[in-house]
Amino acid sequence: MSENLIGYIDDQGNIIDTQSAGENCTATPIEYDNSEASLEIVRHSTAHLMAQAITELYPNSQFFVGPVVDEGFYYDFRVDQQIGENDLKTIEKKMKELIKKKYKIEKYEMSKAEAMEKFAEDDLKQKVMSRIEDDTLSIYKQGDFEDLCRGPHVPALRFLHNFKLTRVAGAYLGGDENAEMLTRIYGVAFADKEALKAHMTMLEEAKKRDHRKIGHEMELFMFNEAAGAGLPFWMPKGAKLRYKLESILHKAHLTRGYEPVRGPEILKADMWRTSGHYACYGENMYLTTIDEQEYGIKPMNCLGHIQVFKQTPKSYRDLPLRYYEYGVVHRHEKSGVLHGLLRVREFTQDDAHIFCESNQIAAEVLDVVEFVDSVMKLFGFEYTMEVATKPEKAIGDDAVWEVATQGLKDALNGNNLPFTIDEGGGAFYGPKIDIKITDAIGRKWQCGTIQVDFNLPERFEVEYVGDDNTRKKPVMIHRAILGSFERFIGILTEHYAGEFPFFLAPVQVIFVPIADTHADYAYELKKRLVQEGMDAEVYDKNDSLNKRVRNAEKQRVPYVVIIGDEEVANKTVAIRDRRAKEQYNLTQEEFMVKLTQQLQEGKI
Ligand code: ZN
Repeated sequence: MSENLIGYIDDQGNIIDTQSAGENCTATPIEYDNSEASLEIVRHSTAHLMAQAITELYPNSQFFVGPVVDEGFYYDFRVDQQIGENDLKTIEKKMKELIKKKYKIEKYEMSKAEAMEKFAEDDLKQKVMSRIEDDTLSIYKQGDFEDLCRGPHVPALRFLHNFKLTRVAGAYLGGDENAEMLTRIYGVAFADKEALKAHMTMLEEAKKRDHRKIGHEMELFMFNEAAGAGLPFWMPKGAKLRYKLESILHKAHLTRGYEPVRGPEILKADMWRTSGHYACYGENMYLTTIDEQEYGIKPMNCLGHIQVFKQTPKSYRDLPLRYYEYGVVHRHEKSGVLHGLLRVREFTQDDAHIFCESNQIAAEVLDVVEFVDSVMKLFGFEYTMEVATKPEKAIGDDAVWEVATQGLKDALNGNNLPFTIDEGGGAFYGPKIDIKITDAIGRKWQCGTIQVDFNLPERFEVEYVGDDNTRKKPVMIHRAILGSFERFIGILTEHYAGEFPFFLAPVQVIFVPIADTHADYAYELKKRLVQEGMDAEVYDKNDSLNKRVRNAEKQRVPYVVIIGDEEVANKTVAIRDRRAKEQYNLTQEEFMVKLTQQLQEGKI
């Protein structure tokens, strides 16, 4: 047996650690390395090691849950003192001391009743156990420390070297805002130093690029807790950036045969009952009462589009029919998960619904995929696709699912786009494709989604007349490419570190006249740019020339243009090109041509 063996993975993707595997385990061995399966075991074990260290440092601590998350782990626990970022070093040091003791990690089992008895004094453990249905529970032990746990774990502490505790936060017990606040420590762990180092560098870079910081510096957007959490305000520069993104996408939709529509912000609760949202999604919705009738603020735009579709009789000749809307939706997110523009309570989806016949699914999906591809290329994102298939709880015939799922796969294969399968991960009403993008520093984000739906047309009796003159139900394809403008702009801000490409930059040019006498020419140039659909500013107020140039350069604008006697006399511009890191002179006409060309780059 390899001394690097830490577990096995079976055909279903279940990980079995060496403590649980029998002598003759036939599943595929997992060696200690940076593979996903290996890191899952390593990270979970590092969480336990951290808990052991915390127990030694703060003997009265009690532990709740400690799962593996992206790149790392966390543990929620109760402790009788405040733990801050400074304490993380101390905990790390204790973890390293424990590793030197060369403990093995051993597993033993007991009945649930025995476990309830054993941890009778620990109400957090009692809570954990109340959520488990199994009759037999396992406990993992290293040295004096033991913890109720399903595993998997590495066989010994010697596998745990390359970790770092990254963050301490408060976390409501079980995510319930009315429950007690526990302490949560996050950490990351890898199988070697290099991977850990690369990850820490990425985190550093991510901190510098934090969209909340850049958004504040560039005056793009703001939040005001007094006005309400998770509700973004767009400042003039952010609104300009957003407007540019919206315009690019408006054109892209129209050229692809989509029609703009718009539904109301609120609809009667009965509508949401019919759709199933009231029952399945109600806790995320805001409800209100008007004239003693209950209304729901829309969390999705589908129902509005269905009403528009149903307004006039439709035949197969009308299909496919593609409606799009920049739909403002409201969803109740728990206050603890709100995060800048990435997680908000009000946002605008670039939402569309395609009504089509079932034999049109593949072609329509292919078009959406092409659309996604042009958008992602425009911003330089790599992306992957995942086809999610029928979940256990689902509506509709297997045969229909088969057609729809195959339609999605055919569309991707037909476009030579690689994809993975998320078995059973589809929505209850139909299969979907999720689009995951990778940003400039290697982080993955889930953005767009393409979902095939047979459910809503059924529930709302949406119909068209087929070519055989019978009434049929269309298929609805729900799709968003950015996901939401808010989240996507948050991601773009971090992706570009605020250095937006010319066609997107909130302010594209700043003119700095050297003296008052040069201001008129600067304003004349600004006017020309605005007429051509660009945004420019003139820095001619108050400060010294040097200060104005410095301030202009801090704004991350693509071009700063200095205007002096020579420029006014010759109708030229002196450019400081931020991207090319060059200074050069152009005639006014050359300048206009150059900018207009760069504006065209934002076309898809
Ligand atoms: Zn929808």
